[in-house]
Amino acid sequence: MAQRLFGTNGVRGIINKDMNVQLALDLGKAIGTFMGGRVAIGNDSRTSATMIKSAVSSGLMCAGAEVLDLGLVPTPVVQHYVKSNGLAGGIMITASHNPPEFNGIKCVDSDGTEMPRSKEEEIERLYFTRSFLNKEWRDVGDLRQVSGAVPSYLASIKRLVDADAIRGAGLTVVLDCANGAGAVATPQLLEDLNVRAVTLNCNPQGSFPGHPSEPVESHLKDLIALVKDTGADMGIAHDGDADRTIFIDDRGRYMYGDKSLAIVAEAMVRENGGGTVVTPVSSSMAVEDVVRRAGGEVIYTRVGAPVVSRRMMEVDALFGGEENGGLIFPLHQYCRDAAMTVAKMLEIVARDGPLSMLVDAIPSYCQDKRKLVCPDERKERVLAALVRYYASQRVDTTDGVKICYDDGWTLVRPSGTEPLFRVYSEARTVEDARKRSEECEKVLDDLIG
Ligand code: MG
Repeated sequence: MAQRLFGTNGVRGIINKDMNVQLALDLGKAIGTFMGGRVAIGNDSRTSATMIKSAVSSGLMCAGAEVLDLGLVPTPVVQHYVKSNGLAGGIMITASHNPPEFNGIKCVDSDGTEMPRSKEEEIERLYFTRSFLNKEWRDVGDLRQVSGAVPSYLASIKRLVDADAIRGAGLTVVLDCANGAGAVATPQLLEDLNVRAVTLNCNPQGSFPGHPSEPVESHLKDLIALVKDTGADMGIAHDGDADRTIFIDDRGRYMYGDKSLAIVAEAMVRENGGGTVVTPVSSSMAVEDVVRRAGGEVIYTRVGAPVVSRRMMEVDALFGGEENGGLIFPLHQYCRDAAMTVAKMLEIVARDGPLSMLVDAIPSYCQDKRKLVCPDERKERVLAALVRYYASQRVDTTDGVKICYDDGWTLVRPSGTEPLFRVYSEARTVEDARKRSEECEKVLDDLIG
């Protein structure tokens, strides 16, 4: 097997351990050799951002690429800039929701989407074989600072929502940018849309002093308290590179990403009188329930945002996304788009709100998650036997094995990095979800043994 560098979200590591300037320089050369032409680069707020970005940029220029430095911007701003300016590609220096000691290098394809695996493999081949272009003195690239990428991203978002309805609704929100890149975009968007914003952790700071940058409930206590104290219409939280958005409703309740995914999916399908919504097999059944009642259909994919984006292009989908708050709007761009998600949710609340009412109208499901040890070499055989065991039931093998019930499912996925299966179940009650997991666990135990 070929050596691998890129994980599911680019190349990530701890600074000056597995992520260092030598790696960044060589990877920059490999990417520059692969992409050529004009390449945009941006970064989130991490302390190592300039160090890693400079090394990657040097590598790009060595291979002859022209580097357009967008500065501190959310990931979807790089993607939007690449697509709307016809660039050869883009690079984002970020480790998204990982702790501050991490950083990462993520590639953007020329169409603004996350780079498909096949192209990453080509870059890995160039990297490991050191087949870099080392241009002659007259042909090396240059670097130019570019301003205006954020305003043009926000302008294009505002064109895609009913901005007048939002402006007229007199909404108040509390915004938590986790000291990350969202701080340079979302406050401006809210101001432009005449939304009163109380801000929290909207000073970009690489040590993430406010809270860790993954927008899970335990990190958002201050945001939740402030939503209650101010009587705001919603709370908004981004991850470190602002491609994902998590909401708090007007009653101060943390909303799991599948709720916002379902609310936006239903609204979009209704507005369009039908349409296709694409989401991974691990998403809550609530999404399918509301899309169906609105007259649309759901297509399931393997887990991972790039896979969802590609499938959305193939089926000309109306909307799609993941349950972690990564929502994708094809009319804007085929990637997770945090500020677009904010604008769309504001529009929906301005028209149909309050948000708590919309949340309560989404069918409620409970999930059970567990792990089960299984040696790597047995995984495939066990999964095949599992499909045979549940032959009388509807089984989906898009990603692992998903056993479908009328009111939920059990999903068994082999871990890519550890000798274990992840078993998820969904049902109307916690007890039923647990029962489903336990039953499947027993079957798996027998098959493994
Ligand atoms: Mg992210």
